[in-house]
Amino acid sequence: MTNAPEPPRNCNLCPRLAAYREANATEHPDWFNGAVPSFGDEKASLLIVGLAPGVTGANRTGRPFTGDYAGDLLYATINEFGFSKGTFAARPDDGLELVNAMITNAVRCVPPQNKPTPLEAKTCQPFLMNRIKTLPNLKAMLALGKIAHDSVLNTFGLRKSLYPFKHQAAHDIAPGLKLFDSYHCSRYNTNTGRLTPEMFRAVFSDIQRYLDHHD
Ligand code: URA
Repeated sequence: MTNAPEPPRNCNLCPRLAAYREANATEHPDWFNGAVPSFGDEKASLLIVGLAPGVTGANRTGRPFTGDYAGDLLYATINEFGFSKGTFAARPDDGLELVNAMITNAVRCVPPQNKPTPLEAKTCQPFLMNRIKTLPNLKAMLALGKIAHDSVLNTFGLRKSLYPFKHQAAHDIAPGLKLFDSYHCSRYNTNTGRLTPEMFRAVFSDIQRYLDHHD
């Protein structure tokens, strides 16, 4: 079992995802087309866990949530709560830096139709576990959507029935470590009103309050 916190860019543990990446690379050789590495502060207290790279977002640019709509809301909210400095310009060379936060994905390679299979999520889990282990100051995790939430629970060997996914829920998952849940900040969820910017901010407020009391 690997102890690497990041898969190699050309990781081929998931044949379907590797094939999709190859197809994208043939069609769009100028895109990143690889396992997208986590982005942020190695001293982070907060680890944000997304689902998987979007094909024209992180898969194109090589930075999580960069280049698609989901990232616009995520980075705007991160900035509002002081977890970044610099200006997000939806490109990896915009100079944005995360402060006390890191962003990763439950599945590091872009899946067709944005839907990783349960086996792909499981196969990628060791990288999430190793990422968590390399963050010495980690106190909070934010799961964006149920798949990310379930991946975190699986990583800690916790039963889903005891820690149900719910928007704005917070779960104690390990000593000194809380898992916060939010609906995913996807365009679909925001267009349908399932997640409003206010609802997303409410989760970040909870996280900020929690971190302020556990310095
Ligand atoms: N981009 C990502 O990197 N992750 C998501 O979950 C969505 C978009």
